Amino acid sequence: MTHGQPFASVKQKTLRHPVAYVGIGLHCGRKVSMVVHPAEPDTGIHFLRKDLSASEGLIAARWHNIVDTEMSTAIGNEYGHSIDTVEHLMAALRGCGVDNALVEVDGPEVPIMDGSSEPFVAMIERIGTQIQDVPRNAIWIQRPVEVRAGDRYVILMPANTPRITVEIDFDHVMVGSQMLSVELVDEAFRQQVARARTFGFMNQVEALKKRGLIKGGSLRNAILVDGDRIVNENGLRYRDEFVRHKVLDCLGDLSLAGAPILGHYYAYKPGHELNRRLMQKLFAARDAWFYITVNEFNALIGQHGQGLKPPRQSVVGMLRKQAVC
Ligand SMILES: [Zn+2]
Repeated sequence: MTHGQPFASVKQKTLRHPVAYVGIGLHCGRKVSMVVHPAEPDTGIHFLRKDLSASEGLIAARWHNIVDTEMSTAIGNEYGHSIDTVEHLMAALRGCGVDNALVEVDGPEVPIMDGSSEPFVAMIERIGTQIQDVPRNAIWIQRPVEVRAGDRYVILMPANTPRITVEIDFDHVMVGSQMLSVELVDEAFRQQVARARTFGFMNQVEALKKRGLIKGGSLRNAILVDGDRIVNENGLRYRDEFVRHKVLDCLGDLSLAGAPILGHYYAYKPGHELNRRLMQKLFAARDAWFYITVNEFNALIGQHGQGLKPPRQSVVGMLRKQAVC
């Protein structure tokens, strides 16, 4: 049996050339220009607000910089400046295996494009990535870490490949209960997740607009659900596009860990705030994870093969039973 490759490269990667995007900010409603530049090894992903002074506009894309999680994930810096809706771009960078990049944006929000990661991925693929001569690190989960809020929960647990499993349960006939489990190997993100768009419900639009949110929202960048119908003329891109977009959001949030997570993320009704709390708890629990280079990891897996495979299904079963109690 052959296994898919969670990491196409054992070395770090950046972009071959800068990539430019122009679009609308979902919440601010303004036109935003963005250029994603190559960056040096071991620098990770940074955002630079070009509309601010150079000394105050830099924001590291890390979980401890998260400043807002209500409708999307916003990160900020010590000067009180922030950049909103980073999750779809972060998911695209992670999905394309880009470790290092500098993202210049001339406004307070990443452009929403079509509401998915597809436009980001397509341009990155067109430009190409550059392998850097520095080993790639990953975060290897050693024991389960979980965060709960009411009936909702998010868990990271040991696994030998990165996997995301999400269940959603909406009280809307068009969405309802959906579940998807994606092993993030090879082209899985590109094929199963990247094209899934964000979504909203007609009966919530007015209230959100009154609060100054989703000013840039339209049928060009979101699925709109109205009762028992999809308002968008061409319908859905995947039958279960809603849960696929949640997987996309969660991958984007988890990318703020700063390195790929080698583990199984399992979530029931997840959200940006639960993901922030999960990373906070994970990094506070020093025995729950360690950094490993992808090279070292591959060597270990190669030596021990199935012997290293964690008891994924039994752990999932155990945790789900606890959640029901
Ligand atoms: Zn989203």
